[in-house]
Amino acid sequence: MLTPHNQPFWFSEAIKKEGALKITPLDTNIDCDVCIIGGGYTGLWTALQLKLKQPTLDVVIIDKGLSGSGASGRNGGCMLTWSSKFLSLKRLYGEQEARRLVLASEEAIYQIRDFCVKYGIDAQIRIDGTLYTATNTSQLGASDSVIKALEANNINSWVNWSPEKVKKHAGSNRHISGMYSPISGSLQPGLLVRGLKRVAESLGVRIYENTAMDSVVEGLPALVKTKQGNITAKKVVIAINAWMPKKYPEFNKNIVLVSSDMMITEPVPELLQEAGLNDGKAIVDSRIFVHYYRTTPDGRLMLGKGGNMFAFNNKVTPAFDEASKYQKQLRNAFDSFFPLLNKTPIARTWTGPSDRSATGLPFFGHLNKQANIVYGLGYSGNGVAQTYMGGEILSSLVLELDNDWTRSGLVKGPLGAFPPEPIRWIGAMIVRNAIRRKENAEDCELKPLWIDKQLAKLANAAGKSDKG
Ligand SMILES: Cc1cc2nc3c(=O)[nH]c(=O)nc-3n(C[C@H](O)[C@H](O)[C@H](O)COP(=O)(O)OP(=O)(O)OC[C@H]3O[C@@H](n4cnc5c(N)ncnc54)[C@H](O)[C@@H]3O)c2cc1C
Repeated sequence: MLTPHNQPFWFSEAIKKEGALKITPLDTNIDCDVCIIGGGYTGLWTALQLKLKQPTLDVVIIDKGLSGSGASGRNGGCMLTWSSKFLSLKRLYGEQEARRLVLASEEAIYQIRDFCVKYGIDAQIRIDGTLYTATNTSQLGASDSVIKALEANNINSWVNWSPEKVKKHAGSNRHISGMYSPISGSLQPGLLVRGLKRVAESLGVRIYENTAMDSVVEGLPALVKTKQGNITAKKVVIAINAWMPKKYPEFNKNIVLVSSDMMITEPVPELLQEAGLNDGKAIVDSRIFVHYYRTTPDGRLMLGKGGNMFAFNNKVTPAFDEASKYQKQLRNAFDSFFPLLNKTPIARTWTGPSDRSATGLPFFGHLNKQANIVYGLGYSGNGVAQTYMGGEILSSLVLELDNDWTRSGLVKGPLGAFPPEPIRWIGAMIVRNAIRRKENAEDCELKPLWIDKQLAKLANAAGKSDKG
């Protein structure tokens, strides 16, 4: 349970800015055209795109807590595109669709920025690019094949930087090479999600917080049941992310909940300036469960690391709402990247569940073949920009449009499955520990054990840069 004391940093900053918090729970039975369950980025972008396409539509959002209290208010705020996933996209959906999706993910960066400018959301968006780096020799060349494929398709935005330039602009001597793309950057996730909520309300979307969906009774119309009242809706959108497999166990095999652990320092603007960290670029290394970091406009440094905690049977336990249990590892990673900042106090740590799919990509579809109930999840730690695309997909499905989004392979439901429990959890622990041993050996420029390398390949099947 989130309280003002354990709220993830971004979310509490955003809530503080709102002043007196006005929470409206549902307290009666209501009707609407579209009921969206889940008030994170996916639910909000869907509502906003519905209202922009069809302003008269009566749209309701319900959230079991505060809108944005899930992954959307606690992520790292790194706005990354799908260019690094081109090969996975091509394998799953064909070259043409993969090309379209990479370009759409790049456009999403600018669409989010333009939307925020238009509607006065100050989400501290800085489109200063991304650096994918290598921090040891075994990571060198990790992106070569995808860059070659992007080049062959005329959609490559990545350029090789010299090791000196990488070290200078990443603020750390640990990086020994890097690729830079200007199409990406960072934002303050809590300010974005609460800003989207405010704009949605101003466009007439009714948002009920502290209102959990208990069940959805299928039919025309459908009935969304909550403890406080029922919502009769012509169309329903289910956008509950990490909580989906528990409500709908049929998705249990398609999703694994993996933590991303985060830390943020107190403001040290002069030290960051000295280190060369003076913009909003996202920096991501080439591990399987990557380290990623970036600064904030007020001179803090945030560092995240995925892959520490796996939820047994996809249960979102209270541990996901607490300070990170991996503070020591975060601190060690931070100190090894930035030895000169090793006295910098940590302001807060937190964590959250990422919905890792078997393909590393989200999937969308109709629930139980119901034409009026749609869902989407599985962003796998890459959702800040991609949920904008999720909004395009889900709003197009709701409006029954025939367009690139409703024809996309992404709307064909889940592709690929994980083994059942308890094999899955035990397997995840074996693979996670093998990855740790392999990457520790590589950090020391030692040869990892053959078995650890083979096991690590199982986690790497869907491609790089997943932060969950
Ligand atoms: C710690 C962490 C770091 C991350 N870092 C990055 C990053 O740097 N860059 C990046 O691109 N992506 C990142 N991600 C991923 C990104 O945050 C997510 O993909 C994205 O926020 C998903 O948005 P969503 O709206 O689908 O889900 P959420 O934001 O989780 O929204 C789901 C909502 O549904 C509500 N809900 C659940 N059950 C019910 C119910 N029964 N009834 C009503 N409401 C319900 C929840 O309260 C929640 O508000 C990170 C994720 C985590 C957890």
